[in-house]
Amino acid sequence: MLRKTAVIVCALILIHQTDVCGQTAKPVDYAAGVKAIQDQPQVKAANDYLDRNHDAILKEWSDITEINAPSGKEQERAAYLEKLLRSYQLENLHYDGAGNLIAVRKGTGGGPTVVFDAHIDTVFQPGLKIKTEIRDGRIYAPGIGDDTRNIEALLATIRALDAARIKTKGDLVFVFTTEEETALVGAKFFAKENKGKVDYYVALDGGYEGFTYAGIGINWYRHHFIGPGGHTRSRTPPYSATLPVARAIERIYQLKVPSSPTANLNIGMLGGSEVVNAKAADAWFTVDLRSTNQDVITDLEKQIAAILKEEADRVNMTVKTERVSTTPVSTIPGNRDSELVKIAEAVHRAMGFNPPITNTGSNNASAALQAGITSISTGAGPCDDAHALTENCEIEPFYKGIKKILLLALALARVE
Ligand SMILES: [Zn+2]
Repeated sequence: MLRKTAVIVCALILIHQTDVCGQTAKPVDYAAGVKAIQDQPQVKAANDYLDRNHDAILKEWSDITEINAPSGKEQERAAYLEKLLRSYQLENLHYDGAGNLIAVRKGTGGGPTVVFDAHIDTVFQPGLKIKTEIRDGRIYAPGIGDDTRNIEALLATIRALDAARIKTKGDLVFVFTTEEETALVGAKFFAKENKGKVDYYVALDGGYEGFTYAGIGINWYRHHFIGPGGHTRSRTPPYSATLPVARAIERIYQLKVPSSPTANLNIGMLGGSEVVNAKAADAWFTVDLRSTNQDVITDLEKQIAAILKEEADRVNMTVKTERVSTTPVSTIPGNRDSELVKIAEAVHRAMGFNPPITNTGSNNASAALQAGITSISTGAGPCDDAHALTENCEIEPFYKGIKKILLLALALARVE
C-alpha cells in the first residue's frame, strides 16, 4: 500500500524529486513539469496581466533608473522601492544590517525557500543627473540594465502573481541588495545571515537567454619595477624602470592562457615617471587575471612572477607586487547537475531559449555560492554597454524576460 501511494505521489511530482520517490523513481521530467505550470490558467492570467501593463512597466523601469544609487548611497532608490513593496501582498518587509531591502511572499508551506536578488546600486558617481531616452526600440540611461531591469522584473513579477492570485508552496524572498558593484557587500552579508535557511538563490544581474551556475575567479594585481631613477642625461642607471615593464608585458602576453577551463588575462593600465625628463624609479602595470579554475590562476601567477624576477634581475632592479583585489572561484561541487540548474534549464527552454549555461558569473551569485548556497544568476532582458553612460536595453524582449522570471519563481517555489 505504501509502495503504491509512493508511486502515485511520484507520478504527481513532475518536477521535484522527493525522498518518497527514492531510487526507484524514473528520471525527473523537468520539461514536463515546467510545461504543466506554464499551462495553468492562473499562470496564463499572470502573463496576460503583464501583457496589459507594458506601458506602466516601462514607465516604472524608467522612473527607478532616474534615481541614481551609487554603491553605499542606495537609500533614496531603496525608499522608493519600499513604498511600492508596501502595497503588495508581502510580509516581513525590512532592511537588514547591510541596508538590503527584504520582503517575503509567504508560501502555503512545504516548499523550498527561494531567494530572488537584484542589486540596487549603480557604478555611477553621486550627483549624476540621469534621464532615460527611448529610440529605435531601445531605452537608454546609465544603470537602465545593470541592474534596474532586474529590479523592475521583480516588481512586475510580484504584481502579476498578486493579480492572478497565485500561491506558491515555498516562500519567495525578494532581496534588493546594496553595494554589489563594490565586492558584493550586501549579498555577502545576507548570505552569511541566512545560510541554512535558503534552498535556492537566484541572482538577477545581466543575462537573458542563459544563466550561470558558478562564479569566475577574478584577481587584480599591480606589478612595480623599482630602480634608482635619475635625469635623462644621468650616468647612473642605464635604464628607466619602464624597460623591464615593456619586456615583461611582451613576455606575459606570450604565456599560454587556456580557453578550457576558461581563463583571461589583460594588462590594462601602466605608468612610470611623472615627467618626460626623468627615468622612472617606479614603473608599473596592472594585470587582470581570471579563470573558472583556481589551479590555472595559481599557475599563471607563478609564471608571471618568474618573468618579473628575471626581467628585474636583468637590469638590477627589484619587483613589488600589490594585490588590488581578489574574488575567489565560486563553485559548489555538483551544482551543474543540481535541481536548481535543471529547473532553470527547463524554464529557459519552455520560454523558447536555447540557454548558454556557463560557469563564468561575476555577481551576487558568487556571494551565495561562497556561503554554500545553491545559486544561479540570470537576467530579464538583453542590454548593452553596462557601466557606461551609453548603457541601453532592448524594450520588447524585456516583457518576455519578466515572464521567464515569473515561471522560474513558480517552478522553484512550486505552485499550489
Ligand atoms: Zn550588476
